[in-house]
Amino acid sequence: MGLLSGRKTVYVDSDVLVIGGGMAGCGATYEARYWGRDLNIVCVEKANIERSGAVAQGLYAINCYMGMQWDENQPEDHVRYARNDLMGLVREDLGYDIARHVDSSVHKFEEWGLPIMKDPETGRYMREGKWQIMIHGESYKPIVAEAARKAASKVYNRIMVTHLLMDKTKANRVAGAVGFNVRTGDFYVFRAPAVIVAAGGASHIYKPRAVGEGMGRTWYAPWSSASAYALPILAGAKMTQMENRIVLTRFKDGYGPVGAYFLHLKTYTENAYGDEYESNWYENTKELVGDYIDRHPVPTCLRNHAILEEIKAGRGPIRMVTKEAFQDPHKETIGWENFLGMTIGQAVVWASQNIDPKHTNPELTTSEPYVMGSHATCSGAWASGPEDYAPSEYQWGYNRMMTVDGLFGAGDTIGGTAHKFSSGSFAEGRIAAKAAVNYVKDLGKERPQVSEAEYQNLKKVVFQPMENYEVGRNEIVAGTVSPSYILPIHGLQRLEKIMDEYVGGISSHYMTNEPLLTRGLELLGMLKADLNQIGAEDLHQLQRAWELQHRVLASESVTHHTMFRTETRWPGYYYRGDHMKLDDKDWHCFTLSQYDRESGEWAMEKAPVYHIVD
Ligand SMILES: Cc1cc2nc3c(=O)[nH]c(=O)nc-3n(C[C@H](O)[C@H](O)[C@H](O)COP(=O)(O)OP(=O)(O)OC[C@H]3O[C@@H](n4cnc5c(N)ncnc54)[C@H](O)[C@@H]3O)c2cc1C
Repeated sequence: MGLLSGRKTVYVDSDVLVIGGGMAGCGATYEARYWGRDLNIVCVEKANIERSGAVAQGLYAINCYMGMQWDENQPEDHVRYARNDLMGLVREDLGYDIARHVDSSVHKFEEWGLPIMKDPETGRYMREGKWQIMIHGESYKPIVAEAARKAASKVYNRIMVTHLLMDKTKANRVAGAVGFNVRTGDFYVFRAPAVIVAAGGASHIYKPRAVGEGMGRTWYAPWSSASAYALPILAGAKMTQMENRIVLTRFKDGYGPVGAYFLHLKTYTENAYGDEYESNWYENTKELVGDYIDRHPVPTCLRNHAILEEIKAGRGPIRMVTKEAFQDPHKETIGWENFLGMTIGQAVVWASQNIDPKHTNPELTTSEPYVMGSHATCSGAWASGPEDYAPSEYQWGYNRMMTVDGLFGAGDTIGGTAHKFSSGSFAEGRIAAKAAVNYVKDLGKERPQVSEAEYQNLKKVVFQPMENYEVGRNEIVAGTVSPSYILPIHGLQRLEKIMDEYVGGISSHYMTNEPLLTRGLELLGMLKADLNQIGAEDLHQLQRAWELQHRVLASESVTHHTMFRTETRWPGYYYRGDHMKLDDKDWHCFTLSQYDRESGEWAMEKAPVYHIVD
């Protein structure tokens, strides 16, 4: 107990606790202050909100903007778009709710100093595509963070939240969270009646394409470690669509984005022999998914499918035809600037590989899968919908409240609502915060009670990896392999291998089936058992250890959901080899799971999809 006795415990009381200060967390913190002038609003972040989350290094486009002031799009149009892209399955109530509020959030960004490109003739925001507007976005995150900093009673940076706390007086009610300061090692107990989880998505669940010298390079932020899912899962919240992992077509080796290239520069793809190939796979895809292939725009997963099939047929690599567009000096500048504002690494990779897109058409590749709820995919928590719009079956409490009382979510955390992106995540944070403030006000003087025994026990659990290391390291005779513990990096690589080989990763061309999933679950179970013996050399490794714990739990959820849905709904994201076709008769529905932390069992069920917009 030597490690524990010296550890300080810091107690923080608040009315609204926001976990994660990324786009959704900043939106939540900002809005909570607006509705809760006198409330104590705390934001806790494992990095520093100034440059944290998926927007840390900036963006070149805001991908979700209706343009209602110019009658460019209406919220219903966005619902139709997201529904089509997700092969029919989205929470239309939640999507509509974001779409109707997102423009005002973007206007706030501009007011706070974000440079948005404008058409000099019309004065309107310059569009990259139907939903995207172009920004000079290197400082997007600091601008948004400033608003949150000014709104919060206090922002606690460098604290990784590991567990939620439950109310000891009322079952199924949240009461706060615990975590540790990754720099000082202090243990934190946050007590709060309303908790908003906004902790981002999950990378490094699957083995990445970039290994060895490139390890750490991923498309989604490498620090997005699945806390958004693990925290609610452990608290017993229901999750939805966790099988709906995303695979992205990106420039090879740097994961550079292709959106501006397709939409703005009007570049296109071809196979290794310079031929158009998508039409070759039309009949094959129609056979799998029926009329969904005829929809416009073609759903993202189906475009991946054509690439994968063409490569499997031996006609890869697929290349982006940039040589034509880059003859225009304006387009050439846009092409490079697109990376400088968002993915500088891609420009560096091209320079290092002698690729000048003016003279060489660069290769594309499909990424390893990621789990997230805000991009062209919608994994996450099952949340109550807006009072004025959600069908009664989707309403059991406050807007964006999960199936645990007082527990809210936004951004990547919330499932069923694809295509919210940075602006929609911020807007959803605002929506969740308004509801959370109402929840706190309705509670009046009543407050959930935190059990001292619970957080004292968690303190022991949280620092156990350091204890394991301290004791076990004496047995090492050479290298880093100990008979008594595994290191976080070893556990991570084991997880990525299991998910890759058994749950549809890159090495199997995203293919899986029931026997593979069954074995994958067995191996995940063994990994979970070994995580009791994880060793952490220092606080940095302790953070890695808890990130791994969160990733493993989210992976288990993904595997159970993939097993439950006996169809291939999104070819190009993953395939069930034993159920290769889309099956609208049995599976035009959401999948829901609930984890029982006492027994370790997962309960699965279906929930109906309501089409509210015609
Ligand atoms: C490569 C890439 C390109 C993108 N391109 C665009 C684009 O062009 N346009 C666009 O609009 N959107 C884009 N997006 C999407 C956008 O970034 C996300 O939709 C948005 O950031 C999601 O918001 P969030 O708050 O849910 O997650 P994040 O913004 O990632 O924030 C999550 C926060 O939680 C913190 N956190 C995590 N775990 C814990 C924990 N246990 N304890 C405490 N804190 C924790 C993280 O440090 C982080 O600050 C892109 C995303 C990526 C990765």
